[in-house]
Amino acid sequence: MFGKIEHIGIAVRDMGTANSLYERLLGRPPYKQETVESEGVITSFFLAGDNKIELLQGIHEGNAISSFIEKKGEGVHHIAFEVEDILSEMDRLKKEGFVLINDQPKKGADNKLICFLHPKSTHGVLIELCQEIR
Ligand code: ZN
Repeated sequence: MFGKIEHIGIAVRDMGTANSLYERLLGRPPYKQETVESEGVITSFFLAGDNKIELLQGIHEGNAISSFIEKKGEGVHHIAFEVEDILSEMDRLKKEGFVLINDQPKKGADNKLICFLHPKSTHGVLIELCQEIR
């Protein structure tokens, strides 16, 4: 089952500038910063009440975030939903006809197993499923 929106991912060009802007916007510093080598991204997490904002910056040319920014510019990159059991959700969504970007869950930032649904099957929105690693 889908739970709440776990976080909103925002693609940024420069983490230093974006971090200080979001710190001024939300009135508090990021609670976590993490490099995800496998994805080639630097991430930074902020809290706004119960909600999380994830800033993402590509480390090198050609990774998903860098090419997103090249095509569309900076901005909202994905919406992540919390799921109880990522494998059964992936299975269910595949049967429903959604296009999964990865066949197996991957280890994401913030102690999560993640999977993305292709925006072509979700009206243009990149959707991330994430399950807390227990
Ligand atoms: Zn995310």
